[in-house]
Amino acid sequence: MQYTKNIPRVMSILKKESPRFVTPALTKISEQAKDPFKVLISCILSLRTKDVVTAEASRRLYAMANTPEEMVRLSTKQIEKAIYPVGFYRTKAKRIKEICQRLIKEFNSKVPDDFDVLLTFKGVGRKTANIVMTYGFSKSGYLAIDIHCHRVPNRLGWIKTKTPEHSEEALKKILPKKYWRDFNNIFVQFGQNICRPVGPRCGACPVSKYCKYYKEVYLPKKSVFREHINSGLKK
Ligand code: SF4
Repeated sequence: MQYTKNIPRVMSILKKESPRFVTPALTKISEQAKDPFKVLISCILSLRTKDVVTAEASRRLYAMANTPEEMVRLSTKQIEKAIYPVGFYRTKAKRIKEICQRLIKEFNSKVPDDFDVLLTFKGVGRKTANIVMTYGFSKSGYLAIDIHCHRVPNRLGWIKTKTPEHSEEALKKILPKKYWRDFNNIFVQFGQNICRPVGPRCGACPVSKYCKYYKEVYLPKKSVFREHINSGLKK
């Protein structure tokens, strides 16, 4: 409770700060393409992959094919070549082919706007399904949690969880629904630029005074370091 009371303040500060950060690749693709199919495919490409690589791989793939029918005509090798070097590019190329085949055969070439049905596709997990529902179909009531959205609220002291799946569950209980849509976008930007996985930039953080990690880890470490320097100077 101590830290969750800061949620409205932190959300408002991070939303204001967000224009100064680079827009995440998936957000850009969703805004530009306004196509659930591309949101789905780019989200699969983005798993375990840097943003800049996702953006380039998506651009190369969509230059060759824009729809399930066009994409299914590409060989797995052609897809592999287009999306390399995204993480697990061989498996992802195979999954993309399978997804396109299923979309054509069972869904009239349309991505189903049903969270549970999306989860039945191989290679689609909760994060991807939530992203497609939120940014592909503009549906409310979905909370897409990736590794940044899992790590940052844990550092802020809002939740105490071990996996993104548990974070989704825990955040849904404490985060007012009005924040759900923008949450992924804002926290991915913030996690990529300030609250980085290794070496968070706490000294430059606009929400440090509301942060558990800052108070309980960063400041004590800094004061130990200062004492160490001072004792060295006195010798
Ligand atoms: S103070 Fe540090 S740990 Fe806390 S949110 Fe900011 S960057 Fe992350």
